[in-house]
This record gives sequence, structure tokens and C-alpha cells, in this order.
Amino acid sequence: MIIGIIAAMNEELEILLSEMSLEETKVKANMTFNKGKLWGNDVVAVVCGIGKVNSAICAQILASEFQVDKVINVGVAGGISKEIHPGDIVIADNLVEHDMDTTSFGDDPGQIPRMDTFDFKCDIELVESAKKACDNNKDLNTFIGRIVSGDVFVADIEKIKWLEKEFKALSCEMEGASIAHTCYLNNIPFVVIRSISDNANNGAHMDFQKFTPIAVKNSTAILKEMLLNM
Ligand code: SAH
Repeated sequence: MIIGIIAAMNEELEILLSEMSLEETKVKANMTFNKGKLWGNDVVAVVCGIGKVNSAICAQILASEFQVDKVINVGVAGGISKEIHPGDIVIADNLVEHDMDTTSFGDDPGQIPRMDTFDFKCDIELVESAKKACDNNKDLNTFIGRIVSGDVFVADIEKIKWLEKEFKALSCEMEGASIAHTCYLNNIPFVVIRSISDNANNGAHMDFQKFTPIAVKNSTAILKEMLLNM
């Protein structure tokens, strides 16, 4: 079994790559795919770049060229609900592209027209094993629910109110739903695990810089615990 691990930014994969025993690297679509062993598993770990297009292309390459059996997306995200704070963990059980909008036709915001699903559901077993990993890290606050993605760094209180009301989203970021979408099309089980870097409100970019290192540490810790038990 090969697990594809995707992060958007170098800093989100740094710790993981330092602990990986690398067997081979391949560059495709300007992305470096690192093949090797990590915490007892065969993995391909890759930094995809920011946003939905980069992450979808990356997930498709993992599917088509590396034939991965599962995909895990880790990284940082903005917290939406008031109870969620920097450093907390959010495990997605489903994802939606919040910037998909054909509401002029009467579709719901986020609905991809002519698609047979509204949300992309994460694999139950992967969600369970992420949950277990969190149970073993009791000092981390963990939330499970919907993550929404769009090509926007959300830093606006009105926008997060809308994301919460419209999608009941716990968290927002820029890659998870497009990875989920790609995995759905390829029939590959996936999960998205994020740690909060900011509260997606005014000043989020400042928090993002401050809290990203701790958020990366936390999401990597959960992934490590998860892989060690897989
Ligand atoms: N200029 C910044 C851009 C970061 S974009 C830089 O290059 O560092 C933010 C990244 O973190 C994306 O990969 C996204 O998935 C995640 N993220 C964290 N907080 C977010 C928020 N409030 N809204 C959207 N994405 C967020």
C-alpha cells in the first residue's frame, strides 16, 4: 500500500521530509514527488503549491503516475468557529469548494453543477485513524467536520460568518476540497487533517505568520501517530 501525502507549502512538509527515508525523487508538473519510507509506511510526499489548481494537479499525478492507494492532505488552515484556536486540529469528514458559484441557475453555493455530489466525503477509516491519533495527543483540541476550500485567503469576519452559516464549516483553506474532488473522481480514499494557523479574520495574515510553525508541528504529530498505527 502506498500513501500519498500532500502539503501546500514547503514549511508544512519540512519536519516530515526530515524524518523520511528517501528512496527516489521525481519532478512532475514542477512538483517534487518524494518516494520512500515514513513511520513504517511506503509514501510519496509532495509539496503541491498553494490553491485548488496546484493541489488538484498534484493529486491527479499521485493517482495516475504513482498509483497511490490513499491520500492524506496535511497543513495549516483558518479557523471559522469561535471555539477553534491556533494550534487546534481539524479533521475533515467532508469538504466543499466554497468559491464554486452557479447560484444564478438556482444551485446552492458550493455545488459543482452537473456533479452527483455536493460535498466530498473523507474515508471513514482514515477519519477514524486520525481521530485515534488525536485521542493519543490529549493536549491538542480536536474538531471533526466540514472544511471548505477556495482560491482565497480568508481574512474577513463577514466572510467567515457566511462560511459558517452557509456551509457549517469549521475551517477554511485553499487545497483540501480540490484534493478531495480529485480523489473522488479517481475513487481513492482520502482525508484532510489541518491545524489552525489563524482565525480567518481581520489580521489573519499576521496570525498566520506567527502560528504556522506550531500548527505544522501539531498536524505533523497527528500524521505521525496515525502512520505509526497503520
Ligand atoms: N503569501 C502567503 C500565502 C499563504 S496562503 C505565503 O506564501 O505564505 C495560505 C495557505 O495556508 C494556504 O495553503 C491555505 O490552505 C492555508 N490557510 C491558512 N489560513 C487560511 C485562511 N485564513 N484562508 C485560506 N487559507 C488559509
